Amino acid sequence: MDLPEFAIEATGLVKTYPATKTTPEMKALRGIDLAIPRGSIFGLLGPNGAGKSTFINTLAGLTKKTSGTVKIWGRDIDTHPRDARAAIGVVPQEIAADPFFTPRESLEVQAGMYAVPRKERRTDELLAALGLADKANAYVRQLSGGMKRRLMVAKAMVHNPPVLILDEPTAGVDVELRRQLWNYVVELNRQGVTIVLTTHYLEEAQALCDQIAIVNKGQVVACESTASLLGRLDTRSVVVTPETPVEAAPALAGFETKLRAGGAFSVTYRTGQSSVEQVLAAVRAAGLRIRDIATEDPSLEDVFVDLTTDKTPEVA
Ligand code: ADP
Repeated sequence: MDLPEFAIEATGLVKTYPATKTTPEMKALRGIDLAIPRGSIFGLLGPNGAGKSTFINTLAGLTKKTSGTVKIWGRDIDTHPRDARAAIGVVPQEIAADPFFTPRESLEVQAGMYAVPRKERRTDELLAALGLADKANAYVRQLSGGMKRRLMVAKAMVHNPPVLILDEPTAGVDVELRRQLWNYVVELNRQGVTIVLTTHYLEEAQALCDQIAIVNKGQVVACESTASLLGRLDTRSVVVTPETPVEAAPALAGFETKLRAGGAFSVTYRTGQSSVEQVLAAVRAAGLRIRDIATEDPSLEDVFVDLTTDKTPEVA
């Protein structure tokens, strides 16, 4: 079979959690259309409750969708559920490791569940790749949180799936371990594995992902390359350090200003409408002498806030 153009394709995906005695009906996914290109590192971002986990759980076959279609590696999850599931490895948000297995046993059991023949198993390779070789025979309950999380990644990869999904993989993992984990993820991607990840660390998404979808209230509000997403905002900021530190950001007509550390302040302007020159002129006109300036490009964080903040005025 030819390789599919998209690792994952969701069309009109809807998930409604039915009402219970204590909670109303919840429309978690309201018609998601997403095509995740094969070979990408794809970031799925959105505020809490946006529907990211529901989406991932649907792909993983853990949540039953209400309607719509999903194809994983070209295989429809309704008509070819086993083939679809064989094509993805999912690292869930919660650590669920059996405390009575060693990492080696844990991987062997997982490989057994996926019916991976013994001679095709990569237990040692995976343990080494995730920095767990020297813990191969320790009980899982003796591992640190970071080690357990890496073991979850190894478990998700035992059947060598072409698509790896990571749900908040670095929550609660320290900086060094995050770096290790990302190195491994990037290496897998280099070997051809498509990576889909959700993360709250926008900087990480900005650094790692080549494509990003932003989900809000069960809908995709943006889906494009990271570069074009960052290019969407036509705002820039100038950070001004005045000769005399200010205690409050000065009001400058036509600009948004914010106090920064050390008595500095930022002035945000629209590139289509103003220039750094005009910003500086406005600062001087406000009677401030400038010691230093630095310009800032918008970050993914700015785009994210712009796309997920409800800007519709309240109706009285
Ligand atoms: P995210 O992962 O982006 O934080 P979720 O997919 O967990 O979002 O949740 C989306 C919405 O669906 C939320 O409003 C959440 O409360 C609701 N939800 C999630 N799981 C369930 C469930 N099992 N039953 C009812 N509602 C749920």
